[in-house]
Amino acid sequence: MIRFSLHCEHEHEFDGWFRDGADFETQKKRGFISCPICNSSKVEKALMAPAVSTGRQKEKVALAVSEEQRKLMDRLREMARKVRENADYVGDKFAEEARKIHFGEIEPRGIYGEASIEEAKGLIEDGVDFMPLPEFPEDRN
Ligand SMILES: [Zn+2]
Repeated sequence: MIRFSLHCEHEHEFDGWFRDGADFETQKKRGFISCPICNSSKVEKALMAPAVSTGRQKEKVALAVSEEQRKLMDRLREMARKVRENADYVGDKFAEEARKIHFGEIEPRGIYGEASIEEAKGLIEDGVDFMPLPEFPEDRN
């Protein structure tokens, strides 16, 4: 049995137990699920918050097992190395610097550094072009 967090059309939140995701869908289609507060059967599963890394906490390291995954890891490693070689490290001033470059306040140059999730979201909203840089255990020394 899986517990899903549910909410109805009026944003009432409650829990429901189901065999699996398909069981939830079936019961919902048949109108078997209703909100305990307002009795509405317009019920949805609450979205799971996606797992995000702030770059400030230790991350789980994935172990590549297949040949293809290893090749992909090598390519990522190579790309990350090149970016670091050809860009200035700006530490936690990344968002500030990236924005200055984007709005033409300073000479464009390659930079890399750390940004919090909030900062990254702000950059996306401002249309700043950037990408997450993969970090490998050997980069941490
Ligand atoms: Zn309700």
